[in-house]
Amino acid sequence: MASAENDTRLPADWLLTNVSRLVTLDAASGGAGPLGVIERGALAARNGRIIWVGPEQRLAAEVAVEAVAPAARVDAGGRATLPGFVDAHTHFIFAGDRSEEFHLRHAGVGYEELARQGRGILSTVRATRAASADELRALGEARLRSFAAHGTTTVESKSGYGLDLATEGRILEVMAALARAGETVALPRVVPTFLGAHTLPPESRGSPEARAAYVDMVCDEMLPAFAGRARFCDVFCESSAFSVEESRRILLRARALGYGLKIHAEQLSASGGARLAAELGAVSADHLDHATDDELDALRDAGVTGVLLPGCSFTLSAPYPAARRLLDRGMTVALATDFNPGTSYSESMQMMIALAVSAMGMSLEQALRAATLGGASALALADEVGSLAPGKRCDLIILRGADERELAYHFGVNLVAATYISGRRAEV
Ligand SMILES: [Zn+2]
Repeated sequence: MASAENDTRLPADWLLTNVSRLVTLDAASGGAGPLGVIERGALAARNGRIIWVGPEQRLAAEVAVEAVAPAARVDAGGRATLPGFVDAHTHFIFAGDRSEEFHLRHAGVGYEELARQGRGILSTVRATRAASADELRALGEARLRSFAAHGTTTVESKSGYGLDLATEGRILEVMAALARAGETVALPRVVPTFLGAHTLPPESRGSPEARAAYVDMVCDEMLPAFAGRARFCDVFCESSAFSVEESRRILLRARALGYGLKIHAEQLSASGGARLAAELGAVSADHLDHATDDELDALRDAGVTGVLLPGCSFTLSAPYPAARRLLDRGMTVALATDFNPGTSYSESMQMMIALAVSAMGMSLEQALRAATLGGASALALADEVGSLAPGKRCDLIILRGADERELAYHFGVNLVAATYISGRRAEV
């Protein structure tokens, strides 16, 4: 061994060894195939960032392994390791319970009757407005632990169940508190998005003037108040929600205030949201179920990531998004859960990968890329997360089995044995 002063090896404070297959998703790793798989791989980190990835037989020659504390040496037990999942589209801060509504809907009760009974999205708005910050935080933290248990290490989080200045502010405060909690306990990283234009609040539904006044409030009060607190601004551009003109106005104001842009586009009908996303250079356009070929070309040319949300199709017994049409034209694709109480109540990216492969014609390689690097690109975080490469955060999952190809095939069960966020094990 070299003496300390002549030691040119990399200094590390965290090690992962005894990995059957290290799925790097990094083309520069020297690993095999489109996923960059290193058999008998190892990984070293320092201060929560990856500093070295390679075959375990080279580890001790290139990294100062002896200096790593025993508690910071992780033995993967001969199992497969992947980057943590990046879930780029969720609505996980809310109160209330809509399980009864789900079962009524599946029993054939129509949308109008459910609305007459006071169910639907406005029931979540009522419950969320009535909840304290402490209550929302406890609900949010429990859900974050569940995201981590299923392998997610970064999670985007949309507001949008407050729909007034005070409650939207409280939701963003809760997200910030959860992000701070993640500095001491290992919780998935929270990326906050402001979605004041999720749906019209009940008090604004009576007249065109009340509607216009709500859009004014989003632009003139909420957006300035939340600038710097939310990373992105999103709009639900849909005939039943906000028009292209309203969406453009909100997003232009948001862009001027420094927000990145996202759009719920072409989910339930051809809404014009995809074209708007291309025109404004949004970071992502989400859903895209009804997007035309021309619109997809425009999104690709503008560098917009398409976020596909198969959990909604599964929940609503609706057709799945046409992933092949995006992939075949070279678009960057992300898979996300759309975790929300109405149309996709699942924290499991493994479930979305299973649906992508079995129902959307994606290969496992495409689905895994979409669930990691694709999600990172939909959050403008591709330099930080999404692959196991030097410089990125040490966010990874150890599976229960030795081969990542069990994903999608072995469905409906949790295949994740352990989740590490910045090198710290998530307690789930
Ligand atoms: Zn959504």
